Amino acid sequence: MIDEILERVLEGNTTKDDALYLVASLSFQELFNLADQLRLNEVGDTVTYVVNRNINFTNSCIGNCAFCAFKNEAGYVLSEEQILQKVQEAVEIGATEICIQGGLLKGMVLDDYCGMLESIKSNFEVHIHAFSPMEIFHASKNSNVDIKYALKALKNSGLNSMPGTAAEILDDSIRRKICPSKISAEQWINIITTAHSLGIPTTATMLYGHVESFNDRIDHVLLIRDVQKKTKGFTEFIPLPFMSNNNHLGKVTRRLEGIDDIKVHAISRILLHKSIKNIQSSWVKLGVKSAQMMLLYGVNDLGGTLMEEKITKSAGGTAGEYLSPNDLENLILGVGRIPRRRNTLYELI
Ligand code: SF4
Repeated sequence: MIDEILERVLEGNTTKDDALYLVASLSFQELFNLADQLRLNEVGDTVTYVVNRNINFTNSCIGNCAFCAFKNEAGYVLSEEQILQKVQEAVEIGATEICIQGGLLKGMVLDDYCGMLESIKSNFEVHIHAFSPMEIFHASKNSNVDIKYALKALKNSGLNSMPGTAAEILDDSIRRKICPSKISAEQWINIITTAHSLGIPTTATMLYGHVESFNDRIDHVLLIRDVQKKTKGFTEFIPLPFMSNNNHLGKVTRRLEGIDDIKVHAISRILLHKSIKNIQSSWVKLGVKSAQMMLLYGVNDLGGTLMEEKITKSAGGTAGEYLSPNDLENLILGVGRIPRRRNTLYELI
């Protein structure tokens, strides 16, 4: 039986039952070695990172996600001048990507989102990785246009790629508990596949460690794999551990243990290795040392320098807001891997 399962694993066709069998039957070390071997087969010993800057343009939001510590009633909204200043600072230190996300600002319409992109693009040559599927929905709803129209307009204004955040766990019974006013799983997939069909690549994420079970995580990763088999539009998969401070959900959920993080990253590699080559560990969420450790269990990317990070920090993240390229390269060298800088689309620089 195990031989048949391993054959399906190598072909990239691991089923849910296969994954559960592997987790139940293999020792942790065997499971983790399998993930590491698949990483080696697909991407070798190179570990990548991107020099980027995060800009969270507002923390004012009409949403009600139970895991959120970022939204604030008396929130800020960055002016165009402040945004351009931040982009300028990023470009000066060699950033190739500006990552923009914000709260769902009441009354913000598609033209506002497009205006932000146009203002940056008319001043800087930089890749803009911006707006979660939830923000795309917010923009289209407030402007009475459909998703495709909104995405086309954003692309014409300079949107190069999108973060696949707001995915949380793609199961509506879980979403009703943790983010009741967010788009449904089907809407998330529809926005993502529409973006891919228009030539807008995205990342894919999973928020784990709250009310979901291990089975739910496997279902989520397999759903992402199904989408990728159809569109090939995901650049990477990023498991994001739930941060429990300063939010409602943190009071009612269990705490994750380190082994949970390793299992999630390892099983992600095992399920996705033939469809999504890049598995990223988030140093902001996991902490720097744990993110480095995940490189031994299937991960091949450490994400970005960020320069500024407000969402995780508000939920108790203590990893800081910036890692220099040197810091990231030292982490990679520290586990015997080869550091390489990349752009957003995983072209080596
Ligand atoms: S997670 Fe995002 S959408 Fe949800 S409440 Fe917080 S800022 Fe709003």
